[in-house]
Amino acid sequence: MKSCGVSLAAAAPAFSDEEKKMAAGKPRGKTKEGTLSLTAEEREELSGLDSLLFGFLNLHENGAKTETLLLKAVCCYESLILKAEGKVESEFFCQLGHFNLLLEDYPKALSAYQRYYSLQSDYWKNAAFLYGLGLVYFYYNAFHWAIKAFQEVLYVEPSFCRAKEIHLRLGLMFKVNTDYESSLKHFQLALIDSNPCTLSSVEIQFHIAHLYETQRMYHSAKEAYEQLLQTENLPAQVKATVLQQLGWMHHNVDLLGDQATKESCAIQYLQKSLEADPNSGQSWYFLGRCYSSIGKVQDAFISYRQSIDKSEASADTWCSIGVLYQQQNQPMDALQAYICAVQLDHGHAAAWMDLGTLYESCNQPQDAIKCYLNAARSKSCSNTSMLTGRIKVLQAYKAHHPNTEPVLGLSETPISQQPLPVHMITYSEVDDLSSPAKRKRISSPAKYLEQLRTDRDHLNPTQKLMLQQLESQFVLMQQGFNKGQNSHLPGSNDEQPSFSTDPALYLQAASTNIQTSHRMLPTSSITQGLAFNHLSHTATSGDQQGICCTKESTPSGNRSFVPEISSHTEDTPNGCAGVKGFSNRVQQLMAEPICSPNSRDSTSPNLISDNPQMSSVLIGKANESMMTGACDKVNSIHPESHTKTNNSVASLHSSVISTTAAKSADQTTTLGVTSISSPHIRLQTVNGKGLENSNSSKNTSLPMISHKPDSPIIPSMSVSIYSNSTEVLKACRNLDKNGLSNSHNLLDKCPPPRPPTSPYPPLPKDKLNPPTPSIYLESKRDAFFPPLHQFCINPKNPVTVIRGLAGALKLDLGLFSTKTLVEANNEHTVEVRTQLLQPADENWDPTGTKKIWRCESNRSHTTIAKYAQYQASSFQESLREENEKKMQHREYSDNESTSSDNSGRRRKGPFKTIKFGTNIDLSDDKKWKLQLLELTKLPAFVRVVSAGNLLSHLGHTILGMNTVQLYMKVPGSRTPGHQENNNFCSVNINIGPGDCEWFVVPEGYWGVLNDFCEKNNLNFLMSSWWPNLEDLYEANVPVYRFIQRPGDLVWINAGTVHWVQAVGWCNNIAWNVGPLTASQYKLAVERYEWNKLQSVKSLVPMVHLSWNMARNIKVSDPKLFEMIKYCLMKILKQCLTLREALITAGKEITWHGRTNDEPARYCSICEVEVFDLLFVTNESNSQKTYIVHCQDCARKASGNLDNFVVLEEYKIEDLMQVYDQFTLAPSVSSSSS
Ligand SMILES: [Zn+2]
Repeated sequence: MKSCGVSLAAAAPAFSDEEKKMAAGKPRGKTKEGTLSLTAEEREELSGLDSLLFGFLNLHENGAKTETLLLKAVCCYESLILKAEGKVESEFFCQLGHFNLLLEDYPKALSAYQRYYSLQSDYWKNAAFLYGLGLVYFYYNAFHWAIKAFQEVLYVEPSFCRAKEIHLRLGLMFKVNTDYESSLKHFQLALIDSNPCTLSSVEIQFHIAHLYETQRMYHSAKEAYEQLLQTENLPAQVKATVLQQLGWMHHNVDLLGDQATKESCAIQYLQKSLEADPNSGQSWYFLGRCYSSIGKVQDAFISYRQSIDKSEASADTWCSIGVLYQQQNQPMDALQAYICAVQLDHGHAAAWMDLGTLYESCNQPQDAIKCYLNAARSKSCSNTSMLTGRIKVLQAYKAHHPNTEPVLGLSETPISQQPLPVHMITYSEVDDLSSPAKRKRISSPAKYLEQLRTDRDHLNPTQKLMLQQLESQFVLMQQGFNKGQNSHLPGSNDEQPSFSTDPALYLQAASTNIQTSHRMLPTSSITQGLAFNHLSHTATSGDQQGICCTKESTPSGNRSFVPEISSHTEDTPNGCAGVKGFSNRVQQLMAEPICSPNSRDSTSPNLISDNPQMSSVLIGKANESMMTGACDKVNSIHPESHTKTNNSVASLHSSVISTTAAKSADQTTTLGVTSISSPHIRLQTVNGKGLENSNSSKNTSLPMISHKPDSPIIPSMSVSIYSNSTEVLKACRNLDKNGLSNSHNLLDKCPPPRPPTSPYPPLPKDKLNPPTPSIYLESKRDAFFPPLHQFCINPKNPVTVIRGLAGALKLDLGLFSTKTLVEANNEHTVEVRTQLLQPADENWDPTGTKKIWRCESNRSHTTIAKYAQYQASSFQESLREENEKKMQHREYSDNESTSSDNSGRRRKGPFKTIKFGTNIDLSDDKKWKLQLLELTKLPAFVRVVSAGNLLSHLGHTILGMNTVQLYMKVPGSRTPGHQENNNFCSVNINIGPGDCEWFVVPEGYWGVLNDFCEKNNLNFLMSSWWPNLEDLYEANVPVYRFIQRPGDLVWINAGTVHWVQAVGWCNNIAWNVGPLTASQYKLAVERYEWNKLQSVKSLVPMVHLSWNMARNIKVSDPKLFEMIKYCLMKILKQCLTLREALITAGKEITWHGRTNDEPARYCSICEVEVFDLLFVTNESNSQKTYIVHCQDCARKASGNLDNFVVLEEYKIEDLMQVYDQFTLAPSVSSSSS
C-alpha cells in the first residue's frame, strides 16, 4: 500500500527542518559557506532522492545535473555536520547515506548509514534506510548482512516498492550461499512481481534455469533453457548465454545423450551462441574444448586462439592449449602453455598437475615433484593424498637415479624467472595464429603490473590499490618459488590465490580430482608410472576435458567485459556510474559463464566453484573483482582490522538479536506476542572507530552495527490495555485523530524478529553435558499422575524421557512392528532418505576428510513392503559381517589396541549408504484403526487428540503434527537437527527392537545453532544439518544426550533443538502436541514471525488457531490470556484497516464465508497465512478454484487489484463478538488435563 513516496516524503521535512535549525543557530547572512547552501528547489529535488532510486536514476539525460546536485548536497551536509560537531538529527545521516549510495561512494554511504543506525533506535521502521544499507552490504559482498537488512525491509514493509529488487538480490545471494531452495523461492517471488527491477524477467528466468543446473537437475535445466529460447525478442546477450550454457552442459553431462550426439549438440549450441555474440571468449573456449574432445585439433586450436583474442588470457585456456600440445607430442609448446597458465593463476592445480606429468614424461622427476607440490598446495586441489603418494614414488625413484638428464632444459631456472613464452605455436599450420600482432594482445599479469608501475603517478585510487595488490602478490609468488617447495605460499593460504586475476579461478573445484585419480594411481616403478601417465593421458583425453572442465567452466568470462568496465573505472563519485555500472553488472551476471556442476567431483563438498565469480560479479565492477580475490571485499578494504571487526561484529550482532516481538506490519497478518526482556544495552560502536569518521572513507569499518535496544515489545501485562472491539474499530477509522487513550498501542510497529543471543553468562564447561530429565514409570497410575504432565511442560526441562511407558500402560507396541505394518498395509507409501552411514556421533564430508554440518540426504519413495525387505536384509547382512569380524578379531586381536589409538586421525570414509524410511503417514483411521486406537491409552497430555492440545483446536489436519507419523530405521538412520514446526512440543515413542540416540539443546540456544548454520552456508530452518559436538562445546552450548529404548517416550518441549540417530534396527512413532501454556503459545508465535521474515511457511496457522482458541477455550492463565488477546487485537485491527482501505478505494468485497473444518488459507505465492480477506484472481474465482493470494502478492501482480476479487470469510461483527467475549476465565485447573 505504501508507495515509495512515503519514505521520500518522510525524509524531506527532516532535512529542511534540520537545516532551519542549524541555520537558526548561526548568524544569518551569506558567508563563505553560504555559497554552499541549498536552494529551496534543490531541497525539493533532493527530497525525492533516496536509496529506492539506486539503479533507477536516469543519469543519462539529467545525469550531470543530478550528480552535481548530489555532490553539492553531500558537501553541504558534511559541512553542517562538522559545524554542529556531529550533533544533528539522525535523519541527516540517513539522507547523507542515500546521497552517497546514489553517487556510489560506498564507504561514505556505509559510514553515514551506520551513524544513523547508532542514533536512531527505531531505525528498523525506516525501510529506505534498511534497503540502502542492504545495497551497500551487497556491494561489499557482505551477504550475511545484506540478507538480514533486506529480509527486515520486507518484514517491516511487505509492500515495499522495491520488493522485486530485494527478492532478486536475495535470490542471487542465496544462490551464492548454496541455499538453493531459498534462492529459487526468491527468484520466483521476483518473477511474479510486475514492478520494475534491474534485471529483466528473462534474466531472472535464466537464473532459475541455472539454479536447476547447479543442482544437477539437468533435465529441468535444459527444459528451462530451451523454454527461454522460445521467448520472443530475446535479447542477444541472454540468447548467447543460454546457448552457451546449453552447449557446455551437453558437453559435460552424460545424462543428455550418447557421447557423439551430445558433442555435436554441444558444438551446434556453441556455434549458435557465437552467432548471437561473436565476441564471447568463453564460448570460443568451450568450443575449443568440444573440438578437442572429438579430436579436431585444428579447430580446437583456432577456437582457443579466438578465445584468447576475444578475452584476456585465461589460465584455463592456456592449460587446455597445453593439453592439446601434449597430445600432439609437442612438449616444448605444452610446457610454455602450462607456464602461461600457472603464471596467470598460481593456484591452478590442473595446470600444475599437467606440468608435473609433462616433466615426468620427460624424465625430470625433480621438476615434476615441484609441480605436484604446487598442485597439492593449491586450494583447488582436494586430492592431496593421491598427490603426496605420487610425490613419494618420484622421490624414491630420484634417490635411485640421481643423475637424470633434463629433457626440457628448464629445471635449473625457477619458473617465475623464465621468460614468458614468446611464441604460442611453433610450427603451426595455422598461419594467422602466429601473427605477432595477435600475440601482443595476450597479456600477462606481469606485463600488466609493469604497465601499472610505469604509469604509477597517473593512476586513480582503484588502480593504485590494484597495483599494490599485484605487487604484493608478485612478491609472494617470487617468494613461493624461491623459498623452495616446503613453505606454503602465504598468498594462497587462506584468501586469495597469488596472481589470480580472476577470483573465479581460485575455487576451481574438484575437477582435478578426476584427473589425479587417473594419473596418480600409485605405481610401483617410475617406468610403469610413466607408461601409465602416457596411456592415461591419451586414452583419457576425453576425461581430461572433463578434468579441466570445472576449472574451465568457472572461466574468466568477466574479463571479456573489461573494456566496457574500464569506461567507468574512474573512481570519482560519479553518478553516471550508478546506472551504467549496475546495468553492466547485470550484463555480467548474464554473461557470466557458468560452471557446470557435473564437472565437479560429485563427492566433493566444494560445490561452489562458480561462487567467487558470481560474487565478483555481484560486487560490481570487474576491475575490482580482478584486484581482490573472491573473498569479501570487506576484508580487503580494511586489512588492518578486518579480523577483529568481523568477529566482534558477528558476536555483537547476534547479541543485538533478542527474541522477537511480533507486531503488525500493515497488511500481513502479524501477531504480536512477545516478551523477552531484551536487555536495553546500547553499545555505540564496535571498535570505537568508524563512527567518528563519517567523512573519512578509510576508517569505515563495515559491519559497524551497534547494539540497539529493542523497543519494549509487549505492552504492559495489564488487561486494561485491551480496548474493546468498538474501540479497535474506532481506532482504525481515526488513525490520525487523537482522543483514543489506547490507540497508540494499536499503531505500534514491532522490530523485526531476531534469534536470541547465547544465554549469559556462559555455562562452565563441566555443565555442558547435563543429565537428561528422566522419569521411570512402573504402573499405569504413575503415567496418569498429574505432576508428570507438569514436569514435562516445565520450560526448565527441554526434554523428558518417560522410561518404560509402554510397559506401564501395557501398550501393544507390536502393532507398529514391521511385521504387523506389512500385514496391515504393505503398499503404503514410505518416504526414503538415502544417507551416508556416519561414524558414531560425527558427520563427515563424503570423502571423509573433514567434519561438516551439512548432511546430504536424498529423497525418494517406496512402499512399506519394500522398505521392510530392506530393513530385514540389512539386519541379516550385519549379522554376517559381525560373524566375519569376530573371526578377524580372533586373528588380529593383538593389533587392535594400536590401531584404535590412531582412529581419531585416520581418514574416514568412504561411507556406506543407508536408507531411512521416514514420515510414513498414519493419519487414515480406517487403514490404521488398531494402531490409532491403541494410542488412546496414553495419558491425555501426550495423546494425539485432546482438549488440552492446541493442535486439536485447528479444525483440520496437519499431517505429522496432529496425526501420527511412523519412522522405519536401520542403524545410522539420522533425523537431522531441527526444532519442531512452530516450536510445538513433540512426542516420540520407540517401538524397538533397537535403540535410538538423542541429542538435545535447550530452546534458548537456537540462535547459536542458527549462527553455526549460517557460517556453514546452511539454512537453519530448511537445510539438513548435523551439529558438530566440538563446535557446540567450544560455544558453551549444553547438549543433553541419551538413549531411547523400546517403550520409552521422549517428550520434546517447546522450541527444543534436537537430532536423532538409530543405534539399532527400530521403528518410531511421533506427533506434535501444543500444551495450553503461555510459553508454548509465545514460542509458536515467535517462530511464526521468524518464519515470515525468513520466507518460510508456518505449518501452524497461528492466526486461525488464535481465533479458534478464543472461540473454544477458557483461558485462566493471565499470561497466556494476555498474549492471545493481544494477537486477536492486532489481527482485528489489520482486518478492519484493510477492509476500510479497500472500500475507500472502491474495491468490492464479496462474501465467501467458510465451513468449520476448512483449513486455514495461505498465499499461493509467498505462503504467508491469509486470514479473512482472500485475494483471488478473477479467473480462479470463476473457475471456483479459489487460489488465494495475500494482498501484497496480489498487488505485485496487479497494482490496482483489477484482476482480483476480494473474498471475505468472516463477518466483522462475528470477529468483534469473539474478541469481546474472550475474557480471562476464573482460575481453576484449566490447562491441566
Ligand atoms: Zn503472498
